[in-house]
Amino acid sequence: MVLSIKAKRDEVGLAGGELLIDGRWRPAADGRTWTHMHPATAEEVGGFAVATPADVDAAVRAARKAFDEGPWPRTRAKERIRVLRRIADAIREHAVELQALVALDNGVPVTFGETYAMSVECVADVFEHHAGWVDKLAGETLPGYQGGEHLVLTLREPVGVVAAIIPWNGPLLLAAQKLAPALAAGCTVVLKPSEYATFSALRLARIVEEAGLPPGVFNVVTGPGESTGDALIKHPLIDKITFTGSRGVGRRVLAAAANGMKRVSLELGGKSPSLVFADADVYAAAATTMGTVTLGLSGQACVAHTRALVHRDVYDDFLAVAEGMAALVNYGDPFHPETTASPLINERQLARVLGYIESGRAEGGRLVCGGGRPDGELAAGNFVQPTVFADVTNDATIAREEIFGPVLAVVPFTDEEEAVRMANDTTYGLAATVWTSDVKRAMRLTRAVRAGTVGVNGYQLEPHVAFGGFGQSGLGREGGRTSIEAYTELKTVLIPTTEEMM
Ligand code: NAD
Repeated sequence: MVLSIKAKRDEVGLAGGELLIDGRWRPAADGRTWTHMHPATAEEVGGFAVATPADVDAAVRAARKAFDEGPWPRTRAKERIRVLRRIADAIREHAVELQALVALDNGVPVTFGETYAMSVECVADVFEHHAGWVDKLAGETLPGYQGGEHLVLTLREPVGVVAAIIPWNGPLLLAAQKLAPALAAGCTVVLKPSEYATFSALRLARIVEEAGLPPGVFNVVTGPGESTGDALIKHPLIDKITFTGSRGVGRRVLAAAANGMKRVSLELGGKSPSLVFADADVYAAAATTMGTVTLGLSGQACVAHTRALVHRDVYDDFLAVAEGMAALVNYGDPFHPETTASPLINERQLARVLGYIESGRAEGGRLVCGGGRPDGELAAGNFVQPTVFADVTNDATIAREEIFGPVLAVVPFTDEEEAVRMANDTTYGLAATVWTSDVKRAMRLTRAVRAGTVGVNGYQLEPHVAFGGFGQSGLGREGGRTSIEAYTELKTVLIPTTEEMM
């Protein structure tokens, strides 16, 4: 059998590849397009517009005008809540189509879309969660501190024009995590999806636009990061950049923001550890850890726990389960119900992951399984065998760098102190999971491990809690009050209550 996504592509339809600027869908100014090749089959999926700097400028100016003159930032809470709820309802109605478009974009199997954090249901919930914040963006009322009688009020106002840039691995969820709080706060937005996951983001964009936003409130520019993205982050009329992606591009965003003192939120990469103690349910620990590295996105997830720190007493058991999990991975047609994991997104990423596997070998790691590429009908796609390295030291390249592929580095430890030291010996700090049946140890470690989210005997993502990283995993949080407040400016108002001077 030859793998092909063509029939599904024709059945689903790609719903256009145009830019959304000031309420109108249109091609790029110079008519250029980018052709997306499917990562599992190397077949052409379709083409979409490559926004020129002039298109980006038009989109930002439309968002600027909609913010400065338009009704959206001053719209009543009731209206904004309605729009966000309408978006959530429409997303649910189009769930099957949206999930299929994700599979056409990045090759993530549709069955993986049934896990909550990757589901269209979760995307809709993100909009509903933020709809709930619209009428709760409260300030404070304080008495005067010195001088005459006066009141001090603080108000939350929308931050302004937001540039939202997202990666390809969770195009719907990551767009929602930016669009929902930005729109809820009353901001206007220019979204740039990844060039490797454009079609699902464009379908979501149509749903958002059709929910009743005034023209210019929501704009979409598509194209590669180096040209379209660069023009967006450097645009002087942007007030805030919200970025999810790699640490390298995150640094560029921060540098570009410095110029205009733009507000910045960054959700970057990770090298998240699982800390597995001898008293843990080792089967659950190994299966879950290996699942984050192999299932669904094949380790191309910011929260993949690609570093397993395992107590020496349960080390061999852990490796046996991890190897068994690798054998269960089923690559293939993303629309087939038995396919469990995706290819790597492109050839550059394939070469990068194979390079890390080489470095794992060269630096003394013991290859337990994988290490190569599957052949046969999978040869045309960017597939890499699920790979486990044992006896890795915590200073090895594969234990330090974000690989973004199905590669687990297993590092043995002897005691709790050593485990915590190694867990924190990283430049990242996105997530960690502690596996133990000792409740006191669990509580100690949730405090001791420096990461934005720490799970105990399991890990899951939910839309209502703050998500983000310590260290070089990012700046700020998404989800919950902190997230929406990051799309506001805080204004202080001083009101004298007597004739006395303050
Ligand atoms: P990437 O940094 O290559 O690209 C992300 C986005 O930035 C894309 O839209 C891309 O076109 C754009 N971009 C690239 N170069 C740019 C430039 N010079 N100027 C402006 N924009 C530019 O990342 P990716 O490969 O798409 O995604 C993988 C990365 O995303 C991983 O590091 C992963 O950990 C991270 N990620 C983080 C989270 C999180 O919430 N922390 C979630 C998902 C992915």
